[in-house]
Amino acid sequence: MPDTPGNARIIAIANQKGGVGKSTTAVSLGAALADLGFRVLVVDLDPQGNASTGMGIRHEARERTIYDVVVGEAPIRDAVVPTLVPNLHAVPSTIDLAGAEIELVSQFSREHRLKKALAEVSEGVYDFILMDCPPSLGLLTVNALTAAEELIVPIQCEYYALEGLGQLLRNVSLVQQNINPGLRLSGIVMTMFDPRTKLSEQVVEEVQRFFGDLVYDVIIPRTVRLSEAPGYGQPITVYDPKSKGAECYRELAREVALRPPPDEPMPIFDDLPTVVVPAVAATIASPPMDEADLAELPTVRSVMHEAADAEVTDQVEDEFETEQIQDEVVEVVEATIDAAELDEGPAPSAEEIVAADAGRQSEEADARELEETPSVAQALGDPPPDDDDDVWEEVDEPPPAVPRVSAPRSPAPPGQLPERRVVVIDEDAVDYSTAAEAGGPTPSRATEDPHTAVADIGATLEDDEGLPKRRWRLFRKGGE
Ligand code: ADP
Ligand code: MG
Repeated sequence: MPDTPGNARIIAIANQKGGVGKSTTAVSLGAALADLGFRVLVVDLDPQGNASTGMGIRHEARERTIYDVVVGEAPIRDAVVPTLVPNLHAVPSTIDLAGAEIELVSQFSREHRLKKALAEVSEGVYDFILMDCPPSLGLLTVNALTAAEELIVPIQCEYYALEGLGQLLRNVSLVQQNINPGLRLSGIVMTMFDPRTKLSEQVVEEVQRFFGDLVYDVIIPRTVRLSEAPGYGQPITVYDPKSKGAECYRELAREVALRPPPDEPMPIFDDLPTVVVPAVAATIASPPMDEADLAELPTVRSVMHEAADAEVTDQVEDEFETEQIQDEVVEVVEATIDAAELDEGPAPSAEEIVAADAGRQSEEADARELEETPSVAQALGDPPPDDDDDVWEEVDEPPPAVPRVSAPRSPAPPGQLPERRVVVIDEDAVDYSTAAEAGGPTPSRATEDPHTAVADIGATLEDDEGLPKRRWRLFRKGGE
């Protein structure tokens, strides 16, 4: 950092949605940059004055505000107040500023008010000027985008994270094309990340997919400390300097300080979705985390790394799945052919099976057997279960033996697994069964059978004493 600041980096912190962390980011990033030794001015452009409150500027101290600067054309120096953080100054706002949107409409050069005002302090006074924008795309935001060289967009890790962002970026493009060609989108900061939800990670992935390297690597978590700090009028770096929130904002400050704005104007992001992930992932917001919950936080890079790994795994699983399904189809076709060969006449129709069964049942069934009668739906939909001898009495020869793992839905010839199974890894399971143990034949296509492959993996997991670390259980699909 130079001893005498050169040109300040003028950064608008904007997102037209409220409650995404703009003010928190303006205050925390400002304080963290000041801690690094930079001279920082935070300009509160939101009539709600949250950033002013967060920096501990009491209402009595807001004698001159950004309103006077923008509407009344007071010199900005008159409105600057110090904060409890050395090197961090503020231009506060009050609710009066809400009127500025309307008052400015009829004024000459209305978009340029703030830019002109900042000219007084943009050279040789501050290293960074951060502008906390209101949650709208009105004239105050346009003033900020006109005065700024850079834009930082906080995005909350939530279901509607990208809602309205397309509109904001279209406005940015308009400002870029018509008023401020030098404006650059410097970065996106992911806020209020909750490691307890999958949704948070999906939002990070999705935002990274659209904005790539523009997303800062650090991810700001949703913490109790960060939500408490404004109530004490202290930036997080003062309120709890050792907290995860403070640490993350310090990291963001380093990233912002080290990364210059891009050379190129912002690309057009036309196809931004509103909703990040399917509705299934929408979760009820859980309370912010306290420090104990925050041992391991991901970074954007680590999330993307995991996402890429997961994609590869998915592909492998897809292929595996396809192979299994193909195998199954072959098995079913073979079983059908075998059954047809066994049967000299045409296979009995479902109605015949039901009728024959019902007739026999009426003569000799006891209550227990009655319970075992296949339902009409079963008879129509699936081949009869192997343990129902009554049905198979209708054909000339008994069907081939089928392993009785539990009632399988399709008979299979010897040498083949009766039906698809899935293997479930179960750390606690102590029972260990295979088709062979259950009395069935051994698979003939052992080398290519995925179950055998799985069994091999299971074998490698044995520890030194030869005791399995994990047990494998074979489950029927749809399982027990
Ligand atoms: P915006 O300025 O975009 O409206 P704020 O920064 O005011 O958003 O944040 C909205 C609310 O969420 C505030 O009450 C703030 O204290 C809280 N908040 C912001 N960031 C975090 C965070 N990372 N963890 C917990 N609470 C947060
Ligand atoms: Mg705000």
